[in-house]
Amino acid sequence: MEEIIEILRQFRDKRDWKKYHSPKNLAVSMAIEVSELMEIFQWTRSLEEEMGLLKDKRDEIAEELADVMIYLLFFCDVAGIDILKAVKNKMAKNEERFKIESEQKS
Ligand SMILES: [Mg+2]
Repeated sequence: MEEIIEILRQFRDKRDWKKYHSPKNLAVSMAIEVSELMEIFQWTRSLEEEMGLLKDKRDEIAEELADVMIYLLFFCDVAGIDILKAVKNKMAKNEERFKIESEQKS
């Protein structure tokens, strides 16, 4: 992960783009990329059709997911958030919040 973040930082800094990377701009950009992912599936009418698109447009979908993650990592970089730690913490919360019934009784 650190290697990826370093690649992103170098790309951004070589172009002097950090000045555009405000939290709002990065959040908006992330949402736009999610929308581009959603657009691929717009107007599908069945799970079968969605799964077909997953197969037929795999490269395009991977690119949109990468775009989402790139902006997410840029956001985390600006905010000083360790995303892996944040995911771990959130999942620990989710474990508490959405207890499995068999665990609730014990
Ligand atoms: Mg895109």
